Amino acid sequence: MSDYPFYHSHIEIDLQVLCNNARYLHRNLKSGTHSAAVIKADAYGHGAVEVARIIGDLYDMFAVANVTEAVALRKAGITHPILVFGVPVPQTVKAYPEYDLEAVISSDDHFDLLEQGTSYHVEIDSGMGRLGIHPDEMDRIEKRIASAGRISCKGIMTHFASADEGNSAYMQQQKKVLKQIREKFGGKYPLHAANSAASLDHPDTHLDMVRHGIALYGYDPTPGPSNQLQPAMKWRSWVAQCKFIHKGGSLSYGATWQAPADGHYVVIPTGYADGYRRNLSGKMPVSIEGVWYPQVGRVTMDYIMVWLGDDRYDAGTNVVVMGGDRNHAGLWAEAIGTIPYEICCGIHTKVPRKYV
Ligand SMILES: *Cc1c(COP(=O)(O)O)cnc(C)c1O
Repeated sequence: MSDYPFYHSHIEIDLQVLCNNARYLHRNLKSGTHSAAVIKADAYGHGAVEVARIIGDLYDMFAVANVTEAVALRKAGITHPILVFGVPVPQTVKAYPEYDLEAVISSDDHFDLLEQGTSYHVEIDSGMGRLGIHPDEMDRIEKRIASAGRISCKGIMTHFASADEGNSAYMQQQKKVLKQIREKFGGKYPLHAANSAASLDHPDTHLDMVRHGIALYGYDPTPGPSNQLQPAMKWRSWVAQCKFIHKGGSLSYGATWQAPADGHYVVIPTGYADGYRRNLSGKMPVSIEGVWYPQVGRVTMDYIMVWLGDDRYDAGTNVVVMGGDRNHAGLWAEAIGTIPYEICCGIHTKVPRKYV
């Protein structure tokens, strides 16, 4: 930490919004359906420990990508069950019993690798083509589970590749495999498959537990009619300088933007080194005291410029660079052809997270 703790921008997380999203997502679950909050990648950039503390009452379990993330939660005092999606490796197997973490077995060798007393879920690859055991192997896996008395099976899981594309042919194909999984393991072990999109759009996949990620943070994974989800994240910065520019004068690298008239602009100390993506140059508005202004010229490493026209603001005035109804992470993603997941995870960890 610097001797002068002072930040050019910070991420503000609205905990009330987060809880509202979580409650909304639970509304269409049958009673008895369990739920896991997916808080990998530092809760999609929202801060895993704080998010875990605030939504713990609404979820039965947390899920993270790897043991490092899980241990950090335990060290912060989080006591909920934690499922680790990633593969167990020799370097991490001792952590599972030590920190009471649940493993995911996605290949045969993991049965031998896990330490005595470890709880695990088996992942079947029903079509995602990432981790998991091929569905043709289910008979053998069932026997393997039965004979692995040192470790205990807590669930069977799978993951959808296209739950956000309605009832696409691919989704139907995965649902067929899911049916085989149910026939084989249903009633014997808890089954879980649904991510946010499936939880919202495919109630037939809820099974014994759903796994909520992106929707919890307020982004609808499915394009179409909006629901009650709200982005929990706002990125705040402030005015470093307010300057005059003549009509025709240009701003930033490449001099790609010219002032349409005499007027003022502000320099805001947030740039691509913080995660304000350079290919958003000139695409998103920012909000200053409730008024929208266009970001103009190229995004630089540590600054963006914003055109005010006839308005002016004092240095130090607060600015929302991301997170309002016209510039939240979902709109950023649309503007540059990516997904809100990548935008949220892409905000640099040096940008402090604050909670309201
Ligand atoms: C990330 C992840 C999820 C959550 O996905 P969202 O689309 O964010 O809801 C669920 N299951 C697995 C296995 C994942 O890796």
